[in-house]
Amino acid sequence: MIGSGIIKGMAVTLRNFAGSYFEKERLITVQYPEERSPLPENYRNFPILIFDTDDAEAGLRCVACKICEKECPPQCIYIIKSDDKKPDYMGKPQFYPAVFDIDISVCMSCQICVEVCPFEAIKMDKDFELSRRERFDALLFRKEELSKSNDYYHKIHPMEAAAVDKNLADAAAAAEAKKKAAAAAATKVAPGPVASPSSAIGSTSAPGETPPATTKP
Ligand code: SF4
Ligand code: SF4
Repeated sequence: MIGSGIIKGMAVTLRNFAGSYFEKERLITVQYPEERSPLPENYRNFPILIFDTDDAEAGLRCVACKICEKECPPQCIYIIKSDDKKPDYMGKPQFYPAVFDIDISVCMSCQICVEVCPFEAIKMDKDFELSRRERFDALLFRKEELSKSNDYYHKIHPMEAAAVDKNLADAAAAAEAKKKAAAAAATKVAPGPVASPSSAIGSTSAPGETPPATTKP
């Protein structure tokens, strides 16, 4: 019958319209901002800097290598490397960013900075409520605003953060094993007491023993 498809479609619409007053799952909208739909694991917005422990300064993973600054397509990252060093998560002295700014009015959320960072230091946030009344400085995020704890990272990207933690723990264990192996090898080749050349040449006695008496012809 001509128009039967339209009637069926209208019936579905009518059923959902009436049903939405009684069944919550038939509603496709939420009462934002009181309610928020859960965001998927891989949702991303702007970059953040991750720190370990409770200390945002000492625990910052970034070592100011500037790879992300160089690779960022719109060049919206600005880094100044520190003059001194602090220990990283493996206890190795590393530089840190004295200044780390991201202009999020320019950032295009491409995630290239995350992909190129060798230290798992920069990740993507999920916060999308970042509108500001001011046009300029308010969208230039400083290191203090960008720094977020590893716990926060676990909250917004649980699966990804767990995988990153495992990678870092594996790298730390491998570095520790390498250090131990190097120390053991150094102990093995450590030189013992050296005999003086005059006593060693032509002598059949062990070091410390009295040499045998020589017989006159
Ligand atoms: S997400 Fe892309 S545009 Fe934004 S800071 Fe990172 S590299 Fe730059
Ligand atoms: S965020 Fe990563 S790539 Fe960028 S400067 Fe820090 S350590 Fe280097």
